[in-house]
Amino acid sequence: MTTTISSIVNGERIVGNAGGVDLNPSDTSDVVREYGQVDAAVAKDAIKAARAAFPAWAATTPWQRAEILDRAGTEILARADELGDLLAREEGKTLPEARGEVVRAGQIFKYFAGDVMQPHGYALDSVRPGIDITVTREPVGVVSVITPWNFPIAIPAWKIAPALAYGNTVVFKPAELVPGSAFELVDILNRAGLPAGVLNLVLGRGSVVGPIMTTDPDVNAVTFTGSVGTGKGILAADAPLSRKVQLELGGKNPLVVVDDANLAIAVEALVQGGFGSTGQRCTASSFTVVTDAIHDQFVAAVQERLGKWTTGDARAAGIEMGPVVDPSQLETDLRYIELARSEGGQVIGGELLDLGAKGHYLSPALIVGTNANDTINREEVFGPVVSVVRVKDYEEALAVANSSTMNLSAGICTTDLAKASHFKRNSKAGMVMVNLPTAGVDPHVPFGGKGDSSHGPREQGYAAVDFFTVSKTAYTNPGAPA
Ligand code: NAD
Repeated sequence: MTTTISSIVNGERIVGNAGGVDLNPSDTSDVVREYGQVDAAVAKDAIKAARAAFPAWAATTPWQRAEILDRAGTEILARADELGDLLAREEGKTLPEARGEVVRAGQIFKYFAGDVMQPHGYALDSVRPGIDITVTREPVGVVSVITPWNFPIAIPAWKIAPALAYGNTVVFKPAELVPGSAFELVDILNRAGLPAGVLNLVLGRGSVVGPIMTTDPDVNAVTFTGSVGTGKGILAADAPLSRKVQLELGGKNPLVVVDDANLAIAVEALVQGGFGSTGQRCTASSFTVVTDAIHDQFVAAVQERLGKWTTGDARAAGIEMGPVVDPSQLETDLRYIELARSEGGQVIGGELLDLGAKGHYLSPALIVGTNANDTINREEVFGPVVSVVRVKDYEEALAVANSSTMNLSAGICTTDLAKASHFKRNSKAGMVMVNLPTAGVDPHVPFGGKGDSSHGPREQGYAAVDFFTVSKTAYTNPGAPA
């Protein structure tokens, strides 16, 4: 029997109207969860509940908030196998990847449980003698959290944990494809001790509940991760309202491989960065820029590695890559492969796989012989599709890498310290990796990009306080007469 889940508003389960279905992309005959999608009125109720809960939650001590976050983190870590299995089943990343994501979510709650107790304000002397100044941090208020399907528990965690830690209340809308992990997360936090209304879950269509969550006057801040198009729409709608908006959007992330690279490291960086999580990562190494002298050797080594690559049911043992998340993403992947071919690229792999189950299986696609300006090197695919551009030397490689407009992450494989240092200084990306895949950022460090990839303060780590609080500057004249 399929488990039915629901929205949660003010601590109450709200069943919703039309039937939402959460299917397993490895085998679409497996219904992971059923749920009712709610309408705009329920989103409005959730915002009202968060608004009503805000004053009391903001007035709790940091220690009270830390204890709840810590308890939630402990439960997430203790249930990593079970929650990892659910995540692999509804999203399609492999079990080790899914379990790793759950552990990361648990660590994020532990991190912010500790961070709450850290000093975030400071005191200064005024230029006027005898006057004291303090700068303190206050919660923003009601925060709308809107997340994509590709990290069903880690992305909600890295938004919800700091929001709650600094005293905000939350309305959370996960992507329609992955409501199961979201429901478990909210349930864990509520049972860890959150008062009713502090964290509300809205399971609804983005086009229906999204506009309420981003424009309602009771919302003080919107944190969104998803596609560039949706993010820009939110920003435009919010502009007249002057509220805080944080956007983490798409990425077109170059991996540069130069003549002096360690070949084995470069091959693994490409394969893990490009095809890990089925390439469905905003930080995926989706285009590779390779210098002339190592190009043929590198492509041959990647091809040999991909020859042993295993694609299959996300929960099967020994699988390196699970299915594509749904028919629409599969159609996008195939469309980009054909487009690259029509623009002159030679496609290795990228074939539909019939593995006996009703899943969306695609073999990894490596596309060689592409030009920097080809569509495949300009637009985000968000699938197991990696293109290769051949360049003369490091200088040209850097120029091609920097031609991306979605500068989330960039990498270089080199054994030359001078090139590594130069690349770190001159890459346009928000995150730079040397001899590593472009994906894979620790839970405690700032995360975010430049260009069309991000808007607003960074997420995660000490940077999170910038978005989830506002600073207050206060003056005191201690010598004022009574
Ligand atoms: P999407 O933009 O289609 O959806 C993201 C979320 O927005 C979903 O919950 C969706 O229901 C909601 N939504 C849809 N319309 C809305 C509206 N009008 N108002 C408010 N919310 C609305 O993105 P997706 O397909 O779920 O995710 C894939 C994208 O996310 C890729 O572009 C990927 O690069 C990006 N992403 C970025 C990061 C990052 O940190 N930069 C991380 C993961 C994914």
